Amino acid sequence: MRTLIRGGTVFDGFDVLGKRDILIEGELIKEVGTLDVRADIEIDARDLFVMPGMVDAHFHFGGSKGGDLVKATLVEDSKVRLLRATTWASKIVEAGFTTVRDCGEPNAIPLRQAVKEGWIKGPNIIAAGRPLSQTFGHGEFLHTIPLEWNEYLGFAQICDGKESCIQAARRVLREGSDFIKIMATGGVLSQRDRPEWPQFTHEEISAIVHEAKKVGTYVAAHAHGDEGARIAVGAGVKSIEHGSLLSEQTLKMMAEKGVALTPTLSIQELIYKHGKQIGVSEWGLEKIAQIRENVPKVIDTAKRFGITILAGTDLGFESGLEIDVGKNYTEPILLVEIGALKEIEALRAATSNIRKLGAKTGVIAKGEVADIVVIDGDPTTQIRDLSKAKFVVKRGKLVKG
Ligand SMILES: [Zn+2]
Repeated sequence: MRTLIRGGTVFDGFDVLGKRDILIEGELIKEVGTLDVRADIEIDARDLFVMPGMVDAHFHFGGSKGGDLVKATLVEDSKVRLLRATTWASKIVEAGFTTVRDCGEPNAIPLRQAVKEGWIKGPNIIAAGRPLSQTFGHGEFLHTIPLEWNEYLGFAQICDGKESCIQAARRVLREGSDFIKIMATGGVLSQRDRPEWPQFTHEEISAIVHEAKKVGTYVAAHAHGDEGARIAVGAGVKSIEHGSLLSEQTLKMMAEKGVALTPTLSIQELIYKHGKQIGVSEWGLEKIAQIRENVPKVIDTAKRFGITILAGTDLGFESGLEIDVGKNYTEPILLVEIGALKEIEALRAATSNIRKLGAKTGVIAKGEVADIVVIDGDPTTQIRDLSKAKFVVKRGKLVKG
């Protein structure tokens, strides 16, 4: 089966190449250039913009409605949430996202398999499975219920001390995690911990990193506060998620060690602007303002230091608003509008930058996996055109258009 995308203006994941034809054979890109060939499917892209399928580098297939995560996990049946998340998968791929890195949610593991086997339409899923959290950590949404209840709800794997962290890491890897997500500081939507509080020690995180490395993968750390982020970076994690309160010193360390940053502006803006309306708990509303203020400065410094920035929405529930599941392109848009990235930098953040974490997608070139989106517009000048996906090819198959 051969597909030809004819004559579009091609952004290859790094730069705009100009008008090119792209020939796809099987799952791979066979040729890029001016081609005199025929194919089974031909897409006329002469007035369109062609780029690698986008990547949401931080997402949660939580399958809940509204921002009340306590209600979602305590009251809703997790099987119903999983079924709802299947509809998210198709919306997301149709929006031009061919890869999603799920940063913590048990649903993502069966969903990944169902998509892979073709039962459900969706993006390629890179899944963390259950995140690792300390006791009284961000992995517990509520700190006033019995600890065992949090474990019973099945979201996070709670572990404390080196031995327990080793076991927890092995357990989630056994469950199918592609990489390990840890909670290295407090967070916004967890009840009583503060974003600036460090969670896990250097020894604990090092032990988890060691377990990840043994099976050829890495650790991603949720971290708002500077101290917790610095401990995590020192212990060898490969990406810092959120990074809202990072100091210049920690960012410098990240640059030296090649650690990526995912600023997650979509969830931040959604909670800040509409939190109350969508049912976010009062502690979440109170904490969001504190972490939001410093973010443009962090992104600016990260950019200056040459840190790889990833576009990740951190969405994990339906909002019914302008920032929502299936509109994951809000993240590269906000990286321009709030983060002051140039359009081309935001496009890289949503495509080729994920290769820093070993994912084999995000680039249009001979021999690469054919994950491609054709846009009716020019996002290099109008970043909001990213919302206009017209054709989507995932692993060589036309899934939209
Ligand atoms: Zn998250």
